[in-house]
Amino acid sequence: MLTQKISHTQIADVKHLFEICKNVVIVTHTSADGDAIGSSLGLYEYLKKKGKDVKVIVPNFFPDFLKWMKDADRIIQFDHHKSQAKTYIERADLIVCLDLNALSRMEDVADAVVKSTAKKILIDHHLGPEKFCDVILSYPTASSASELVFRVIDAIGGLPQLTKAGAEDLYAGMCTDTGRFSYNSNDPDIFIIISELLKKGIDKDRIIRNIYNNYTEGRYKLLGYILSEKLKVLNDYHAAFYTLSKEELSRFNYMKGDTEGVVNMPLEIKGIKLSVSLREDTEKPRILVSLRSVDDFPANKMAEDFFCGGGHFNAAGGQLSCSLDEAVDQLYKALEAYKDKLSE
Ligand code: 5GP
Ligand code: MN
Repeated sequence: MLTQKISHTQIADVKHLFEICKNVVIVTHTSADGDAIGSSLGLYEYLKKKGKDVKVIVPNFFPDFLKWMKDADRIIQFDHHKSQAKTYIERADLIVCLDLNALSRMEDVADAVVKSTAKKILIDHHLGPEKFCDVILSYPTASSASELVFRVIDAIGGLPQLTKAGAEDLYAGMCTDTGRFSYNSNDPDIFIIISELLKKGIDKDRIIRNIYNNYTEGRYKLLGYILSEKLKVLNDYHAAFYTLSKEELSRFNYMKGDTEGVVNMPLEIKGIKLSVSLREDTEKPRILVSLRSVDDFPANKMAEDFFCGGGHFNAAGGQLSCSLDEAVDQLYKALEAYKDKLSE
């Protein structure tokens, strides 16, 4: 049915660890997104069904539009419940890290994970995974960590134990990491997986409404403000960008997650190959940079070269310790350096 992406030895290792474990902790990346939460809760559902004690830990806040997922309210936010989370990590005999390739992506959770003597599994689709786990399932061609969780469950013969709620979670993760299957989703297997998830009885239309038609008024008006007042279209560079200061964000009652996905929108403009968001962080003195590109423009290379970051080929990010104005200067340097590539 599915093309077997994951190696037989890895599947055997994961199957064994899933059998013998009792107390599992699932950890995902900072500022968790749909794939992070979807893959974590999807795997949680499966392991719970197998009778395991499972906890999902996120480093910090995750957006409201993911909180419809079953048991999202049981997710432990490390920055608010440190000692409880540390206790769960200490007593775990298996830790599964999802949708991340580096310890730093777990923020303060990383320390406790490294200290733990539990067996560790990494399931991820970012390039260049750090080697801090016993079993590393790193498949950068996969659409999402959620797709990989499905593949693992399927390969170990666990589909009967995937609940409808788990199927909803995995669908949500795959959907959000591919922009509702509009990019990074040409693998025919993805649609076989969706078909299997639908057989679990999920209502994909309702899931999409839950995720996307769930804006707060502030978020919707902020979107309008960005597009009409802030967006700069640089036709010479086939690029577009916007800046957002803390003052502007507070004007629209900004809550973390409110700008999620907005940086993709300028790619809808004819001829635009690169879209960049430069946003003042509301927590630390730094500028958060997000880059999105189409076709063969390497957003991750630009993020590495100019914004102390990295990521996927067409979706990358980073951060700068400077003012917004200086960040704009840095962006122009980046655009100049990549001008030829942008005008190809
Ligand atoms: P976003 O723009 O949504 O914050 O991030 C897009 C992608 O860029 C993420 O999925 C992640 O892979 C990558 N990314 C974001 N920030 C960083 C960073 O600081 N360092 C690295 N290496 N990757 C990042
Ligand atoms: Mn992902």
